[in-house]
Amino acid sequence: MSERDVQRVIVIGGGPGGSTSATLLARQGFDVTLFEREVFPREHVGESLLPASIPILETLGVIEEIEAAGFTPKYGATMVWGRDPDPWSWRFAETNATYPHAYQVWRPTFDQMLLNNAERNGVNVRQACRVVDAQVETSEPTSVTVESADGRQEVHQADWIVDASGQNGFLARRLDLRTHDEFFRNLAVYSYFHGADHLPEPDTGNIFIEAYEHGWSWAIPLPDDVMSVGVVVDAAWGGAQLAERDTEAFYREQLSMTGRTAEMLAPGNLLESPRVIRDWSYTAQRLVGDGFILVGDAACFIDPLFSSGVHLAMSSAVLASAYVTSALREPEMRVPAAEVYSQLYMQQYHQFREMAALFYASNRTSDSYFWEARRIVQHPDDISPREAFIAAVAGQPPQGYERVVLERGEAPADFVEGVAAVETERARRAAEMTRLIDTAWPDRSPMLEAVPSLADGVELARKPVIGDGQFEWGAVISSPSRPQGAPISMVVAALASRIDGRSTVRTLLEDLFTGVSEPQRVQLLPGMLTALRVLYIDGMIAYWRV
Ligand SMILES: Cc1cc2nc3c(=O)[nH]c(=O)nc-3n(C[C@H](O)[C@H](O)[C@H](O)COP(=O)(O)OP(=O)(O)OC[C@H]3O[C@@H](n4cnc5c(N)ncnc54)[C@H](O)[C@@H]3O)c2cc1C
Repeated sequence: MSERDVQRVIVIGGGPGGSTSATLLARQGFDVTLFEREVFPREHVGESLLPASIPILETLGVIEEIEAAGFTPKYGATMVWGRDPDPWSWRFAETNATYPHAYQVWRPTFDQMLLNNAERNGVNVRQACRVVDAQVETSEPTSVTVESADGRQEVHQADWIVDASGQNGFLARRLDLRTHDEFFRNLAVYSYFHGADHLPEPDTGNIFIEAYEHGWSWAIPLPDDVMSVGVVVDAAWGGAQLAERDTEAFYREQLSMTGRTAEMLAPGNLLESPRVIRDWSYTAQRLVGDGFILVGDAACFIDPLFSSGVHLAMSSAVLASAYVTSALREPEMRVPAAEVYSQLYMQQYHQFREMAALFYASNRTSDSYFWEARRIVQHPDDISPREAFIAAVAGQPPQGYERVVLERGEAPADFVEGVAAVETERARRAAEMTRLIDTAWPDRSPMLEAVPSLADGVELARKPVIGDGQFEWGAVISSPSRPQGAPISMVVAALASRIDGRSTVRTLLEDLFTGVSEPQRVQLLPGMLTALRVLYIDGMIAYWRV
């Protein structure tokens, strides 16, 4: 621990992950310095956002600025994929009433807004400063060596380092933590067009994704009549082609093989030479170490099919800032909260991975190498990511395009059946609960005479849970399909821990409420019945004898 009064955090990288974590850590009162090797605004691919990021932008206090920036509102996605040769559209409003739209953003401006906001929140932002060396997990104090544009090097000590260096993955590479995902060995070639045709209303602001013989293309409408356009092809095949050909000729040839995208681009002009970027997915074997944490693409990257990168960067940054706050203020939290951070981030990552893998496997329109190789759905060895994905698709608020995978992607039968079974069971349980709970007169609810038991494999544990900007000890209930668990209040945990498969809810509550006054019991009862209802619908409670 440092002798300084205010603990010092160093953030590597000023993309969405770095700016978000730096802002939130500065708000916690830490002395935060962010080193960014470029001078903003800098070029960056990845313009299409998800509605799930909007609450984070609200928390950061930048949503008004983003709304006023004139970015394209994105209400959904339009695709040519799978059995239907015609474009079909998917709208966020179908599953997300609170946040029915996101934005297609010009990344140099968007990233600059987030970085400026970090500075306004007290972060010492140092641009044109590349981190070239780091001391972590050695006998030396934790530090980074930073090289500025004039070649001068400085060593900066830190109480904690947040690595948000994007695909560069500064610490993951140094510590040899990166594992590539063999299934998503793709590369992208992209550029920008001016004056291309847009999709017709109401889909004008949508991202347009089109599967074609050698992969798929994206077209993202940006302000000022600019369109971000890219093709994603197999990394080995594309690499071999590009070794022999001019990049622009390859890019134009691939685009000419698409159907609708080529039509849309016909009136447009290419604005700049296309760039090539490897989008080969990877994860880091460890996301947290003694004195460091990995955020966003520095930790893991998943194929861009579902526009998940910026959201994963910002949501992992929210979790990481909570982690660093807890790790610095309550050192005994370091190990257990690191486990929770990794579990929560990997859960989101695997959800997008499953979705992309199923979607790739479902396109049966072409027999090219690209599609043949992606038809076999590959899963990590243990079954839990698939089960967790089914649980998420069937009953949780969507992060992105989960329902598209089911409804349009010709997903494998076992997956479709799995989701349908979970949904049918949830609906049945919800209906049963309506019968068992009397909302007008809770104390007359038939549920009070029911006997609950915990489902197989359900566990209650004391774990770090996200509190107000940091992790705090709380209760978590988990099951085999939800290994990461769901936080529950201490009083609900106390009730759940009494469930023995023999006692009625009335008996359990009487035991729980020992010593509690009658007016307080009356006040607590509806909340306890609601908690039991939710646990039942979620499958944590298995069986009721009435
Ligand atoms: C082809 C393709 C298409 C994509 N499309 C989308 C999309 O439509 N929507 C979406 O949400 N995501 C998309 N993504 C992913 C998205 O761009 C990234 O996931 C996102 O930018 C990650 O944010 P980050 O903050 O982790 O990293 P970045 O945004 O990459 O920021 C990292 C920063 O760290 C800096 N840096 C690196 N090394 C150092 C160092 N040593 N010292 C100091 N600074 C350093 C870099 O200059 C950079 O500014 C796409 C990705 C690819 C490859």
